[in-house]
Amino acid sequence: MSTFKAPKGTYDLTPPDSAKYLAVREAIAAPLKNSGYGYIETPGFEDVALFSRGVGESTDIVSKEMYTLTTKGGSELALRPEGTASVLRAALEANLHKLGNLPVKLWYSGSYYRYERPQKGRYRHFSQVGAEAIGAEDPALDAELIILADQAYRSLGLRNFRILLNSLGDKECRPVYRDALQEFLRELDLDDDTRRRIELNPLRVLDDKRPEVQKQLVGAPVLRDYLCDACKAYHEEVRDLLTAEGVVYEDDEKLVRGLDYYTRTTFEFVHDGLGSQSAVGGGGRYDGLSEMIGGPALPSVGWALGVDRTVLALEAEGIELELPASTSVFAVPLGEEARRVLFAKVTELRRLGVATDFAFGGRGLKGAMKSANRSGARFTVVAGERDLAEGVVQLKDMESGEQQPVALDALVAEIQQKLA
Ligand code: ATP
Ligand code: MG
Repeated sequence: MSTFKAPKGTYDLTPPDSAKYLAVREAIAAPLKNSGYGYIETPGFEDVALFSRGVGESTDIVSKEMYTLTTKGGSELALRPEGTASVLRAALEANLHKLGNLPVKLWYSGSYYRYERPQKGRYRHFSQVGAEAIGAEDPALDAELIILADQAYRSLGLRNFRILLNSLGDKECRPVYRDALQEFLRELDLDDDTRRRIELNPLRVLDDKRPEVQKQLVGAPVLRDYLCDACKAYHEEVRDLLTAEGVVYEDDEKLVRGLDYYTRTTFEFVHDGLGSQSAVGGGGRYDGLSEMIGGPALPSVGWALGVDRTVLALEAEGIELELPASTSVFAVPLGEEARRVLFAKVTELRRLGVATDFAFGGRGLKGAMKSANRSGARFTVVAGERDLAEGVVQLKDMESGEQQPVALDALVAEIQQKLA
């Protein structure tokens, strides 16, 4: 072990477990790639103002959780705590909304950073796969995204998750509700922090997990009663589309989500096997965000799914992903000449696309066979001086244990045929 450890709240992904994370990212991305979403990658840090304006000063993310830094040149930057603001910034900067048809559909995958109290399922460095559909107001788009996330989780074999759904209204009806809620909240017995929150971001108070707060929230005005006709109709349409596709959801009028920019549709995916860090993903519509960061009006919707918690959810359900072995053939040379001959065969197989590995370091048969076993290879090729003198190598089927000599010249074709 070195003197250094991964920083608090972070962990490394190392083989073999890391394969699971890759597979989860791929499983989440697959339905997006299949539905017109293009891949986007943005920097790991941004102008801090993008987040304070885009995510909102009053959110936990901006007020408590952001890693900020001042560069030698005096720029104020922040490690990205989430993806949406960056993706929208990048789309506007590249004029994607002017170049092609709307909506601009994008997906991304990467690392995010939040200064949080580390615990199971809550880290300071974590990973998300996300999707954004920019520039269209259409209930079918909201439904599409929810359906694609549902499909991603199901393709991984997850079953014990639930979809919570709500509408947050728009700039017409939300302020009316906000006033009514503030009036109600100001009468309650709450600590100073929460009192400040009432003035800054009253909807977030509904999200407070403490029982002594929740108890007082019984009878609070609910947004549903304040939705304007347009928002109501929109939400009904989203719900109908989901129902028609057989996607089961629960109406959750308390679901407000942490970010300031959400309007209308909001949703969260929760998994019941994860304890208090139960949200595996979430998202919603953010019709006002583009204007908040200086762009044109571009009604948009998106989500981000947490890769770390999705892996925990798989473990909670006891799901073992069927990951194909990364190596198909393992070559074990005995002696110098065999080393050169087999190394050439390994390179040839690799060029042909057969996943092949080699016993490096000349450790003798026993150690090399251990490596072959560990690699998960279907076939092992062993060759010593006597074999080569006869123009053959030994081909061992690791499943049946059978071993047979194969002419060196026929080896590659033989392996290809057996693997086909
Ligand atoms: P929570 O309520 O648990 O703090 P959040 O609302 O802050 O979650 P989002 O900003 O919606 O989370 O991010 C989307 C997803 O990213 C979450 O559902 C979760 O799976 C994951 N996520 C968020 N923060 C963390 C973290 N600190 N560690 C690991 N995963 C996280
Ligand atoms: Mg959070």
